[in-house]
Amino acid sequence: MAKSRFEYVREFENHERLLPECYIVVRIDGKKFHEFSKFYEFEKPNDLNALKLMNASAKNVVLHYKNDIILAYGESDEYSFILRQNSTLYNRRTDKISTLFVSLFTSNYVALWTKYFPQKGLDIKHLPFFDSRCVTYPNLKAIKDYLSWRFVDTHINNLYNTAFWMLIKKCDLTTEGAEERLRGTLSKEKHEILFSECGINYNDEPEMYKKGSLITRKGEILHEDVIKQIEHFFEGF
Ligand code: ATP
Ligand code: ATP
Ligand code: MG
Ligand code: MG
Ligand code: MG
Repeated sequence: MAKSRFEYVREFENHERLLPECYIVVRIDGKKFHEFSKFYEFEKPNDLNALKLMNASAKNVVLHYKNDIILAYGESDEYSFILRQNSTLYNRRTDKISTLFVSLFTSNYVALWTKYFPQKGLDIKHLPFFDSRCVTYPNLKAIKDYLSWRFVDTHINNLYNTAFWMLIKKCDLTTEGAEERLRGTLSKEKHEILFSECGINYNDEPEMYKKGSLITRKGEILHEDVIKQIEHFFEGF
């Protein structure tokens, strides 16, 4: 392209690069999905089709970037994509990686929507959009701890949400009543409330709800023993 006298404005751009030799995590998260899930009447606490749609969108991102991705892990309205330490994707430019991942994810989410929600068209005033960030982790311990952090978050949120919604659905409590009932309770007590008051054995809940979803570089989606298997996925990285 011909140079113009305006060309100098490019100098104002900065191309921040992610630290070399570090694992890169790209985490995306749905914007106001609490409202979004209400508007599209997601089943509470877990809408199976909504989770499948997240997984299918993430899987396409993994397959597109399979040479750089080690694995992806997702729950609720979020997904984390882990890139290998020596990835040179887009010269490790933060903006490029973050924006391209989240826009590829979002366009898949929109394109696949009707497959998972055939009865509900997307409303132009309630479109899904996601935020995105890139974080670098310097070693294997840190990256495993990162995944364990998200994994524990899935567990804590799902146990709370399951107890909360079952108190409403099965015990006819109001939202305030359910919140009150659960205030200050330990994990063990939530299990007990679910069992004795709602007739639900939390251990029998689907693995995907309790443990989240892990996507391998080959595009397999796993829900069991996710954290126990992490060691195996990082072999060679
Ligand atoms: P923010 O814009 O800050 O991320 P948010 O409303 O998206 O706000 P999150 O903490 O990301 O808040 O939580 C996502 C919310 O989306 C959950 O609390 C839940 O209400 C809803 N949600 C996401 N996925 C599902 C699902 N599969 N089934 C039911 N509800 C879901
Ligand atoms: P990069 O991924 O680096 O941005 P690119 O192929 O998108 O690569 P750009 O410099 O962004 O390169 O140029 C966009 C190209 O897309 C144009 O050169 C043109 O070939 C094509 N294009 C974009 N919009 C139109 C349009 N409305 N009609 C025809 N071609 C278009
Ligand atoms: Mg969100
Ligand atoms: Mg979230
Ligand atoms: Mg372009």
